[in-house]
Amino acid sequence: MFPNVLEVARALIKERVRAGETVIDATMGNGNDTLFLAQLVQESGRVIAFDIQPLAMEKTKERLVREGVADRVEMRLVSHEEIQSLQERVGAIMFNLGYLPGGDKEITTQAASTIRAIESGLKLLRPGGIMTVMIYWGHSAGQVEKDAVESFCQMLSQMDYLVLKYQYINQQNQAPFLLAVERRGE
Ligand code: SAM
Repeated sequence: MFPNVLEVARALIKERVRAGETVIDATMGNGNDTLFLAQLVQESGRVIAFDIQPLAMEKTKERLVREGVADRVEMRLVSHEEIQSLQERVGAIMFNLGYLPGGDKEITTQAASTIRAIESGLKLLRPGGIMTVMIYWGHSAGQVEKDAVESFCQMLSQMDYLVLKYQYINQQNQAPFLLAVERRGE
């Protein structure tokens, strides 16, 4: 079977991220991607993880402590728009849009703040670094967000970024898809 969209996102990140790097999880949720990133950068690396919901932070923390990697993760209970305050170069940034699985489905990522965060994040990517955006658009604000993110990514200069879309085109019910942006120059 073809890999699913999340598996592809992770494979693309795995090929590019080096141990010891700083990376960002822009949507912590239940901590699955935070844990994946923390294991990838190893003990000498660092993950900066964002979410606006205390429940997401609690669940992620629990997970990271259980797996023994909490000390390499800095969790921030603020919107990922705060990526704009970071200065350092990063090897990867993961966005996993939508609502917290098992949480309040009305609290979702939103087009305007997502675009601001993507825009700030792209400036931090090192050459050869990657941003993955998993687009789950079956929720109330999802269609608007999907259109906004896709349009924004289509406009990125091909001199500076390569943008890939990975999507099954014969699935029903607003199947999720992946946008991956690679910073050129390596
Ligand atoms: N990556 C997560 C995982 O591995 O479990 C799943 C993420 S979930 C689909 C989306 C998350 O984005 C939710 O936990 C939600 O609270 C969070 N979120 C919504 N708006 C946000 C914002 N402005 N900044 C950061 N996180 C936000």
